[in-house]
Amino acid sequence: MTFYPGPSKVYPQVAHYLQEAFAEGILSVNHRSQEGMEIIQGAIEGLHQKLNIPDDYYVYFISSATEAWEIIAQSLTKQKSLHFYNGAFGEKWADYAEKLIKKIERVSFDLNELPDFQNINNFNDVVCITHNETSNGTQIKDLKPIRKAFKEAIIAVDATSSMGGIDFDYNDGDVWFASVQKCLGLPAGMAIMICSPHAIERAREINDRKFYNSLLFIHDNFQKFQTHYTPNMLSIYLLKKLMEEVDNISIIDKKLKLQANKWYDFFEHKSVKCLVKNSTVRSDTVITLEGMKEEIEQVKALTKANGITVGNGYGSWKNTTFRIANFPAIEDFEIKALMKLF
Ligand SMILES: *Cc1c(COP(=O)(O)O)cnc(C)c1O
Repeated sequence: MTFYPGPSKVYPQVAHYLQEAFAEGILSVNHRSQEGMEIIQGAIEGLHQKLNIPDDYYVYFISSATEAWEIIAQSLTKQKSLHFYNGAFGEKWADYAEKLIKKIERVSFDLNELPDFQNINNFNDVVCITHNETSNGTQIKDLKPIRKAFKEAIIAVDATSSMGGIDFDYNDGDVWFASVQKCLGLPAGMAIMICSPHAIERAREINDRKFYNSLLFIHDNFQKFQTHYTPNMLSIYLLKKLMEEVDNISIIDKKLKLQANKWYDFFEHKSVKCLVKNSTVRSDTVITLEGMKEEIEQVKALTKANGITVGNGYGSWKNTTFRIANFPAIEDFEIKALMKLF
């Protein structure tokens, strides 16, 4: 059993989809053939339906969330991106952007606080925000204040550890992305990037066409349900099959939040405590627990001895925290088993 927050437990149905993929010849399918294009189209339509993505938003498949960081810097940023973060992934995003564009601005905020958007006026370039900070288990639950504060800007949202679990109002952002190996419960090797019409307008304005993954080149290919390079067809197929079977995100979202509250209540009475004290910024999908170094070592040893993997601490919290993924692919019997150990 694994509660690692990525790569995470895959949906059990994946075993079956994999066999089907082999039997149906998906592993050798040409991505520009009719059959290939239909799989790509099916996966995109399934995402629109099950994740409630607005009809006028575009869906693309790329290799990773890291690639999305670069695409945003090279194809959507005029001069400067503004990065709000409180943890390792948001910071890494700023580091990657800084290598590609001349100017970035970093606004870091405290673990127990929300970022303050009020002080920055008339910024209309790109605003980068991590919806769910996987490294420390915080979440920005309401993204509407960002839209309100930056009416003209492109708002880019890293939703890597929450897409597939949380019911977003996609109109709150212009670019949304997630790799599939976290909350979406699929094997690693692909990411989903979702863009608003405003984002595509911005891409046209900038007209970057220098790279294999320039957004306009990706966009042109996807208009024909094709891709800008030979894609991971197996992953696209798995996504299509999964979207045919899962509940609508509004149902998954409710279940997941109930389970998150159960976890938080559960640890109120244990010696390891939630790292995030402010309950309004606690993540619904990554539960981060803090304790003495020895306690954490004990938790890891005990879980390991019982065949259960929990997530290590990340970055500066490496030795004093551990993480429990609360992703939809994880089943009740697994949660019960882990709770029993505690
Ligand atoms: C894991 C993670 C990433 C990086 O994902 P890759 O698939 O390795 O590119 C980026 N952002 C967040 C919030 C993550 O959790």
